[in-house]
Amino acid sequence: MSWKSYDVIAFGAHPDDVEAVMGGTVAKLVEKGRSVLLVDLCDGEPARHAARGVRAMQAQKAAQLLGTDRTTLSLQDRLIQDTISARFGVARLIRMHKPSLVFTTSGSGVHPDHKAVTDIVVNGVFYARLPKWEEVPETEALEGTEAHEIKHLFFGHCRMEPPWPNFDFAVDVTGTYEKKLEALRAYEAVFSGDQATLLDKYMAEDRYIGSLAGVQYAEAFRARSPLLVSDPEVFSGSRFG
Ligand SMILES: [Zn+2]
Repeated sequence: MSWKSYDVIAFGAHPDDVEAVMGGTVAKLVEKGRSVLLVDLCDGEPARHAARGVRAMQAQKAAQLLGTDRTTLSLQDRLIQDTISARFGVARLIRMHKPSLVFTTSGSGVHPDHKAVTDIVVNGVFYARLPKWEEVPETEALEGTEAHEIKHLFFGHCRMEPPWPNFDFAVDVTGTYEKKLEALRAYEAVFSGDQATLLDKYMAEDRYIGSLAGVQYAEAFRARSPLLVSDPEVFSGSRFG
């Protein structure tokens, strides 16, 4: 069976997580012509400031604004855990769509869902590359898919947690920052009431990361494996050498 291929898949626990953590990077990849699939592990229900179903519509609008496709797995908001079936959900999408880059968010546990998504995606990426699942019992979820090895797994910084003391690289998103804000503003249900100042917080972080590298806005990432370049001149200029 053949499914649509995507160059990039970005997994978030809830709708809006990927936008907040790496919306500028997603917009930049799309501008470069890369096909991007956003995956939310759950539908984000119940949402704090909206009736059931509103958040899903806002998530679709945000994906449209960014120029990506979007799909949702059926885990339950607030109860997300690194289970075998959650790993299979991630592994199945990777085996179906064969991305070279996979992104997710890195959380250490302020919100348990944000901690769980990191483990689920790390483990799902590993499961995706293994052959012979048909010889393992109760693995129907992967039926009809083939092993797929991605090139890189990158983690964005969970915005509910304290800043990272260091990161592996940052993406200059100055040129696509307006797109990120547009996508985030699609979630009126999230950025209202007592959470109305969240957008300012996100912007402050992106400005801070940008200031470290001498650009207006940047998004920080860590890599699962050491990063290798064949040419040390590929990096953009830095602030202090
Ligand atoms: Zn979230």
